[in-house]
Amino acid sequence: MAPRLILVSNRVNIPDSKGPRQAGGLTVAVNAALKQREGVWFGWSGKVSEDGAIPTPTIVHRRMRTYVTLDLSATDFQEYYNGFANRVLWPILHYRVDLAEFNAGDLGGYLRVNAHFADALSPLITPEDTIWVHDYHLLPLARELRARGHQNPIGFFLHIPCPPPDILEALPQHWQTMGALSHYDLVGLQTVQDAENLGRYFAIQGSESKRAPGMFEIDGRRVTVASFPVSIATAIYARAARNAVRSGMVGELRDSLGGKRLILGVDRLDYSKGIPHRIQAFGHFLDKYPEWLGKVTFLQVTPKSRVEVPEYAAMNQEINALVGQINGRHGDAAWTPIRYVNRSYTRAALAGLYRTAQVALVTPLRDGMNLVAKEYVAAQDPEDPGVLVLSQFAGAAQELDGAVIVNPHEPEGMAEAIKTALDMPLDDRKARQHRMFAHLAANDIDRWAERFLTALGESREQPGLLKGLRQLFAQRA
Ligand code: UDP
Repeated sequence: MAPRLILVSNRVNIPDSKGPRQAGGLTVAVNAALKQREGVWFGWSGKVSEDGAIPTPTIVHRRMRTYVTLDLSATDFQEYYNGFANRVLWPILHYRVDLAEFNAGDLGGYLRVNAHFADALSPLITPEDTIWVHDYHLLPLARELRARGHQNPIGFFLHIPCPPPDILEALPQHWQTMGALSHYDLVGLQTVQDAENLGRYFAIQGSESKRAPGMFEIDGRRVTVASFPVSIATAIYARAARNAVRSGMVGELRDSLGGKRLILGVDRLDYSKGIPHRIQAFGHFLDKYPEWLGKVTFLQVTPKSRVEVPEYAAMNQEINALVGQINGRHGDAAWTPIRYVNRSYTRAALAGLYRTAQVALVTPLRDGMNLVAKEYVAAQDPEDPGVLVLSQFAGAAQELDGAVIVNPHEPEGMAEAIKTALDMPLDDRKARQHRMFAHLAANDIDRWAERFLTALGESREQPGLLKGLRQLFAQRA
């Protein structure tokens, strides 16, 4: 059998005959990794079965790919997914220790599901396969696979931020989860800062880093840590945006704006996205610059997510109240300053919204990368591009040097940034857009997957490893 790439993630998106059902960022990343390779995508089906049912993997073949999915029991779903992953790991890795709600049962469920995944995956692995595990749901999977005797190259990519060691150490029994990353050959993170944070954590926990920068020895194992900023399918996105402006939806939006400028925000409903801060900043902008009253509309697109978690419902109420206050204070019969919509758009429709908006406000309090920022840049008309206002705390800020960078905790500064963006001369907008688009074209999602898989291959070969690390660090410098 030819060597295969086995991708593992929490959810698996099996395409139907028309292609993937919803191409989220992870699906785009997995498709890039599996391009022209024989591969397997393994993970949760998204279905919840009754407790006590024995989960058996479902196997679906489509062209060169095999999709293997498992259902979760109701208890597993509650403890592993809603409990430990979403109420403990998500807040802590986003620097929000105050929001974490730990209980030992949820950690037990998280470790148990990782062991189930390993049990189900183990018989499918051949010694030639390369395994690439994605995201915070599956931190201990390599340890489980090693315990079942698999010596294969196993890589891990963390799509969300990695905070400094003193925050990681607030995670109860952190060595069971973060420490388990030491069982991978290569751990990829979004930014240099994230990689340095994990490296310092390993060093504090007693691992040695003496062979090369980013390489650690822990209990006789060797793990390499480096940054691989995730990206988008830049050329495909740009084409989708060019086509989308002809769609009926974009035409209706344009008509409804009646010549007013459009400011756009697109974020899942999540406290990490800083939506209330942004709405308040827009209110400050209208207070301070009344000449813009009636001339600009802020559209905030916010699909609901994680409806099972009570804080998310409370956050939606808070946002609705803020939007109501600002619309009440500044709006009039013919103009609503803020449009807040809790629905999701297809990728094509979103590309059209991006291209229509003169300004995008991407101002998370903390974000691993933020693909919306990259998609907005890719979607612009190069002859009349919009301006990206971007939080310094989004991973994307490390790359998108043509954005107007803001601190999301400073409403007055954000109000000034909105003004700067709306007033920016065409030449300046074009120069910034050109620079950022060139970067995204050269560093698209295919290149990201190739860089990671090359580094994973080299992490197992002594001479190549040192060469690969030197290249990685040369790229950083
Ligand atoms: N997205 C979408 N439809 C929507 C809103 C968002 O398809 O109505 C997509 C968006 O294009 C992006 C992803 O969802 O690819 C969000 O990724 P991001 O990294 O910005 O944030 P995350 O939700 O992963 O924290």
